[in-house]
Amino acid sequence: MDLRNGLRPLGSTPAEFEQDLLSNLYYRRGTTVESASAQDAYETLALTVRDRLAARRARTAAAHYETNPRWVYYLSAEYLLGPQLEQNLLYSGTTDLAPAALKALGFSPEEVEALDVEPGLGNGGLGRLAACLLDSLATLDIPAVGYGIRYDLGIFKQDFENGEQVEKPDDWTFQGDPWEFPAPDDWQTVGFYGYVGPEGWVPGEIVHGEPSHLLVPGYGTETVNIVRLWRARAAQASFDLRRFSAGQYAEAVQEAVKAENISKVLYPDDSTEMGRELRLKQQYFLVSCSLRDIIRRFRFRNSDWSDFPVKTVIQLNDTHPTLAIPELMRLLVDEEKLDWEQAWSLVRQTFAYTCHTLLPEALETWPVDMLGRLLPRHLEIIYRINAELLDEVRATFPDDLSRVRNLSLIQEEPQRRVRMANLAVTGTFKVNGVAELHSQLLTSTTFADFAALWPDKFTNVTNGVTPRRFVRLANPGLSALITEGLGSEDWLRDLSLLSGLAPLADDASFRARWRSEKRHAKSALGLGDPGAMLDVMIKRFHEYKRQQLKILHVITLYQRLQSAPGRFGVPRTVLFGGKAAPAYYAAKSIIKTINAVAAAVAADPKSSGLLRVVFPANYNVTLAEKIIPAADLSEQISMAGKEASGTGNMKLALNGALTIGTLDGANVEIRDRVGADNFFLFGLDAPAALSLRSGDYQPRSYYEADDELRAALDALSNGVFGGAGQEVAQSLLGRDEYLTLADYRSYIDKQDEVAAVWQNQERWTRMSILNTAGSGFFSSDRTVSDYLERIWRASPVRP
Ligand SMILES: *Cc1c(COP(=O)(O)O)cnc(C)c1O
Repeated sequence: MDLRNGLRPLGSTPAEFEQDLLSNLYYRRGTTVESASAQDAYETLALTVRDRLAARRARTAAAHYETNPRWVYYLSAEYLLGPQLEQNLLYSGTTDLAPAALKALGFSPEEVEALDVEPGLGNGGLGRLAACLLDSLATLDIPAVGYGIRYDLGIFKQDFENGEQVEKPDDWTFQGDPWEFPAPDDWQTVGFYGYVGPEGWVPGEIVHGEPSHLLVPGYGTETVNIVRLWRARAAQASFDLRRFSAGQYAEAVQEAVKAENISKVLYPDDSTEMGRELRLKQQYFLVSCSLRDIIRRFRFRNSDWSDFPVKTVIQLNDTHPTLAIPELMRLLVDEEKLDWEQAWSLVRQTFAYTCHTLLPEALETWPVDMLGRLLPRHLEIIYRINAELLDEVRATFPDDLSRVRNLSLIQEEPQRRVRMANLAVTGTFKVNGVAELHSQLLTSTTFADFAALWPDKFTNVTNGVTPRRFVRLANPGLSALITEGLGSEDWLRDLSLLSGLAPLADDASFRARWRSEKRHAKSALGLGDPGAMLDVMIKRFHEYKRQQLKILHVITLYQRLQSAPGRFGVPRTVLFGGKAAPAYYAAKSIIKTINAVAAAVAADPKSSGLLRVVFPANYNVTLAEKIIPAADLSEQISMAGKEASGTGNMKLALNGALTIGTLDGANVEIRDRVGADNFFLFGLDAPAALSLRSGDYQPRSYYEADDELRAALDALSNGVFGGAGQEVAQSLLGRDEYLTLADYRSYIDKQDEVAAVWQNQERWTRMSILNTAGSGFFSSDRTVSDYLERIWRASPVRP
C-alpha cells in the first residue's frame, strides 16, 4: 500500500482547520459547539493537531518499511516528556491557526490550552534527557523508537502543608489522554516466577503488556517517530476459572488487579536505588515487552539472526533496563535455539549502556534470592555470563583476586546481590558517561577495573537539551530577538549558529532589547519587582546538589540586612523549585527549612524590596518552561565530582542566565565554552573534594573560623527556622557529607562578586548574551550526532 497517495491532505488554511475542528467535535468527541465544555474543546483540538502529525507518521513509517534501515531503540524506565499541546502546535505549523479557530467557535484559547496535562513519567534529569534525545532523533530523521512504561500514576504532585512537602497522586490520564494511540493488538506476554525444568523456564505467573504510543515529531522535517509505552494487563488465562465457578469471583478479580499493579506507579526515587520486588518486576516487564516488539519489527524485513546487530542498536538508559541482556540471551538460546556463543556475540554487538551517576548508593543491585525467585532462568544466564567473564579476568590478570572480586557480576558481602552496572558493562559494546568529567571519573574510579580490561569500550557523550522546547517554546520573546539578530531561524536546527550572537554583545541597542526580554519574562512569571535579580535553584532535592548551601547564603543575606546592610548587595528574588523523594528525610528537612526561611524573610519589613524567597510547589517541565526564561542567575552548586552532567545548567545558560557553579558535571564544559570571564566559579574541584573527603574533614573548624557561617548555623541550630532547620544544622556540623561548610566562604565571596557585576547592568547583559552565544554545543541534536558517530552508527531516512 502506498501511503503517500491514499490520504486526503489535511488543510492548512484557517477555514480548513476550523472545519476539521468542528467535524472532530461532532464525529469524534460526539458533541456540539453549543454544548461543548472547555475539556471537549481541548480534546478536540488535540485530535485535530494530532491528525496532522499522524499523516506525517504514516509517511515516515512507509519510508522506514521501504528502506529497512538500521534502528535505534532507546530503552528507558522514564520519560519526562513535558506538555504536548504547545509542542505539537509548533511542530505541525498550527500555532496561529489553533487559537484563531478556537475563538471563531467561541472558546477561550487560554482556557482550553491550560487543560493540557504533562505526562510526568519521570523523576528529573534522566527522564528529561530521554525526551530530549527522542526529539533530536526525530529532528535528525533517524529511525528510532523509545520504549518505556505507561505508569498510571506519574511523579507525585508536590504540595506544601506547614512548609512540609506532601505528596499527592498524579492521575495524569484522569480525563483520558488525547495524544495517545493504543495498540492493543500488539500485546506481549510476560512471565514471572516458576521454575526451570528440562524444557526450560515454566513461569508461574503470566501478565500481558499492552502498548500505546505517542507521536514524536521532528522539527523542520517530515519525520514523526514514536515512543511506545507498555501497560500491564491481566492475561485472560490468569483468571482462575475454578475460583470463578466456586463463587470466588471477587478473589479471582483480585488476582487480575495484582497483575495490573506492575505499571501502576513510577518509583519517585532519584539517585538512590529502590530495592523493591515490584520495581524489579517493572524493569523486567519493560524489557521483555520491548525486546519482543523489537524482534517482531526486525522480522518484517529480515530473517537471518546474524543481521540483528546490523539492523538494531539498543541503548540502555542507565541500568534500569539491564535485564534486557539476559532476556535477549534467553530468547535467542531457549526460544530461537541459537548456540550460546553465537547468541552472546549478537547480544554484545547490540546493546550499549549510558551510565548516569557517580553516587555509589545509586548503583543498582538486586538480591540474588529475589532475582532468582522472580526470574529463575535469568539468574542461571547471569551466572554463566559471570563465569565466562571471570575466566577472562583471570586470563588477563593472573593472580589478581581483587579484580575478580570487583568485576564479578555478583557482590558477595554482606549479602549476595547482582550488580546491574557490571552486567550492563559486560553485555554491551559501548559504555558512555554523560559529560567529559563524568566519563573520566567513570574510567578512573567506578569502572576503573573494567576500563583496564576493555579500554575501548568507554566513551563520553555530553548531554544536551532540545532548543525547540527550552528556548523557542519556553521563551518566544528571546527566540524572536535571536532570530532577528542572526537573520534566520536556522539556529533552531543548528544551535552552533548561536555563536553569531557574540558580536551583538557589544551593540548597546541589542543589549537593551535583550534586557527588556528578560524583564518581560520576569513580569510574566509574576514575582513582583522585575528589577531584582532572579536567582534560581531548580532541580531535584538531594544533599549532593546542596540546596543547603544556597539556604546558608540566603540566611547570610538576611542577617546582613539586620546587622550589616552595607554588605547586603543588590535586590534579589531567590527561587527554589524541586521535589524530594518521599522517603528522603534529610532532603525534606531542607525543603521545610527553605519554606521557614522564606516566611521569616517575608515577615520582616527590612527585606522589603531587597530580598524575597519563593518556592513554587510541584516543579515539573511545565513550570521549568516558565521559570527558565526569567532567570538571571543559575545555581549549579553541587559538590564537585557528584553531579554526572546536569541539564538544567544548559537550559538556563541558553536562556541567558549566568551560572554560579562548581567545576562539576557539564559546568566544566559550559565554562569552557562561554568563557571563564562569563562564569562565576567557586569551590573545591573534584580532586580537592575527594582528598578532603577521604582525609580528616572537620566541618566544625570552618564553623569556628568564619563569623558569618557561624551566625547562619547558630540561627538554624537555635531553631529560628524551626525544628527542620535544627536538623539541617546538625547534619552540617556533624558529618557534612557533601562539604558544604568547606565551600561556604568561597561561595559567599563569589556571590558578592555576582552582586557587584549585577550593579553594572551593561556588563551583566553582555555576559548574558555571551552565555547564550557560547552554549550552542548543548543542543541535544549535537548529543544525538555524537551518539550516532561514537555508538549508534545509524543513518537518516527522510519520508
Ligand atoms: C531539566 C530538568 C531537570 C534536570 O535538572 P538538573 O538541574 O540538571 O538536575 C529536572 N527536572 C525537570 C522538570 C527538568 O526540566
